[in-house]
Amino acid sequence: MLCGWFLRLGPQIGDEDACKGFWQSALSESWGRLHPAQGDPDRTVPVLLHGDEGKYSKGRSIMVLSWGTPLVHGVSMETRFPITVLPSRLMYCVGHQYVTLDQLQAFLASSFDKAFRERVCTFRAAYMGVKGDWKFHVQLRPDFGRSAAADLICFDCMASQSVPGLLYTDVGPNAGWIATIQEQGDNLPPLAATPGWHWNSYFADVLHTVWLGVGRDAVGSWCPFQISVYALSVN
Ligand SMILES: [Zn+2]
Repeated sequence: MLCGWFLRLGPQIGDEDACKGFWQSALSESWGRLHPAQGDPDRTVPVLLHGDEGKYSKGRSIMVLSWGTPLVHGVSMETRFPITVLPSRLMYCVGHQYVTLDQLQAFLASSFDKAFRERVCTFRAAYMGVKGDWKFHVQLRPDFGRSAAADLICFDCMASQSVPGLLYTDVGPNAGWIATIQEQGDNLPPLAATPGWHWNSYFADVLHTVWLGVGRDAVGSWCPFQISVYALSVN
């Protein structure tokens, strides 16, 4: 899979300076400092996992998992690689345990492990983190998202919508949730078997995190425009 990917993305990806620069700046991040990629940063392509759930019709939704690299920017169709697309109703849960997602995580961990150990054209790929909306992150991480108290809403702390003393609406310096910010737990998610996995490599997807306002309509109109401009430029 990686070889085909290298060929499609062309010279941008086999760029030692780009790889080296990326891992050098990762040295200032808690997730990047001890990442095994630092052993050969010139020839390690960072890979970012992405998960999102979207509604498509009559309130039904699908979960899309894909991957790409922060070294290459461009049209999504050419730079994002789908792993799976699943109707959300097929995502099996037992209580607050996301069974299907757990199995997907375990599969991804073994795939990322292979991509890190085996090289293609002397390059290897390394998992650097996962990006998604808040809901996706809560489902991926066991400590809080899977608590019997479904009300727990954050993957980093125990902020709550209803538990007095932990209310997320309390933003004062003595808010109860501040003392519950997670540092490192023993209850690791299946994805933790990936080389380079770190508690701090869960990244927010900006378009799911900021208040969009008119942004979502602008993005909706802008994307087809971008695709048509791209189609013109390659013809
Ligand atoms: Zn929090």
